[in-house]
Amino acid sequence: QSKAKLQDSEKVNTTFDDVAGLEGAKTELQEIIGFLKDPDKFDSLGGEIPKGVLMVGPPGTGKTLLARAVAGEAKVPYFTITGSDFMEMFVGVGAKRVRDMFEKAKDKAPAIIFIDEIDSIGRKRGAGLGGGHDEREQTLNQLLSELDGFEPNEGVVVMGATNRPDILDKALLRPGRFDRQITVHLPTQEHREQILEIHAEDKKLSDEVDLGEIARSTPGFSGADLHNLLNEAALIAARYKRDAVEQQDIDQARDKVMMGLKREGMRLT
Ligand code: ATP
Repeated sequence: QSKAKLQDSEKVNTTFDDVAGLEGAKTELQEIIGFLKDPDKFDSLGGEIPKGVLMVGPPGTGKTLLARAVAGEAKVPYFTITGSDFMEMFVGVGAKRVRDMFEKAKDKAPAIIFIDEIDSIGRKRGAGLGGGHDEREQTLNQLLSELDGFEPNEGVVVMGATNRPDILDKALLRPGRFDRQITVHLPTQEHREQILEIHAEDKKLSDEVDLGEIARSTPGFSGADLHNLLNEAALIAARYKRDAVEQQDIDQARDKVMMGLKREGMRLT
């Protein structure tokens, strides 16, 4: 599966300015950024940084964005894997990927490792859910041993994301592993407006379009839904060969996104 191929680190330019709201999460992450910028100084002051930070929250609320922003703010390499990529691998391959990634990250430290959908590797062991079971357990065991295998201030911080913290194997949450949790929430109306402002920057919107009004009419939308809404609206406007996105395109796009959310049976039912 090519998607699961180990990526080399990436240099990211994302910063906290690209992230609307989530002030609590940003404040908590400042400490980690400070550490990544200058691990030695942190060390000399006797501070101990968490090795693992678990970001918990509904889909599309900016967990990946936050992880990228931490790497971008600290100007350190960003390594990433997605839990579900491991599902179809042969036994042993996932574990090797995890080992290789930690190896590379330690080599390039200070660095960030981001594990999206950590619940697909980190589900409780022996839960008898079948299907790629051995493989998953091996991958999880490897991840646990990697987390234990470096010192807290070695310069690698692992960030995980999940919307199902309840199904995680408790071993992952033990002290010295993912012992710090950060909760991200669906955006408030005010934050929805800020998210729309960020994503409207590279769109051509007609003057009549009122982002505040869109924010009011999209309760329950995540940042990803709002991003999607503006993209859809731009596509609709293109289809009508307009010069700019009009309010009616936004309305049509919102209906479409809402329909999708209802079909998923999530949030807006
Ligand atoms: P998942 O759990 O589905 O992986 P996630 O929480 O990691 O979702 P992201 O991938 O970070 O969500 O968000 C998807 C997209 O939604 C982002 O690339 C960004 O465009 C937009 N977005 C989400 N939250 C915000 C936010 N707070 N500010 C600006 N954009 C946001």
